[in-house]
Amino acid sequence: MNVGLTNHKITQALERISKAVRVLLWEESKKYGISPIQIQILIFCLSHKLEMLKVSFLAKEFDLTKPTISDSVKVLIKKELLKKIPDMYDSRSYSIALTQKGRNIAKKTSYFTNSLVAAVGSIDNDLQGAFLKNLLHIIHKLNKDDVISIQRMCLTCYHYNNENNEHFCGLLNRELQNQELQIDCPEHKIPS
Ligand code: SF4
Repeated sequence: MNVGLTNHKITQALERISKAVRVLLWEESKKYGISPIQIQILIFCLSHKLEMLKVSFLAKEFDLTKPTISDSVKVLIKKELLKKIPDMYDSRSYSIALTQKGRNIAKKTSYFTNSLVAAVGSIDNDLQGAFLKNLLHIIHKLNKDDVISIQRMCLTCYHYNNENNEHFCGLLNRELQNQELQIDCPEHKIPS
């Protein structure tokens, strides 16, 4: 029996999980009559700082072109789910923010991965830590190979150090367990 290469099988498994995420996102999308990327923009707005809520930043975040994001933002503004916040220092620039209606939808849809969260939660806690560490390693490699854009995670952070094969956050000034590694840290700093 050809058992296949493990790295290929893991890649196939990741594809299946990615498909599950797409299916769950489509279900939410149909419920609210907006596209999957529009749902993702609303959810992103829920938990990120205003300075990140610009078309150019979102384009990098979702690895899409600025016109694609700009079109989605226009639709969301028209549907009164987002509003424009003008930039005080640059009249041509603006950020976006959720309206109350947009916030309500973002909160409800932000649970779209619940079934996946529950499935991962059924794995033993130590294994979850090792799983997270290895997934971050894969994401880091994809980032280094320019497949995906910069990630706000420990492995790409100025404050991160892993001498002696241990994770250390210079900002918190302490060691981090695998389970504490961040994938979207508000304090992430790009190394200079
Ligand atoms: S600041 Fe955040 S991303 Fe950076 S090392 Fe510390 S916990 Fe990780």
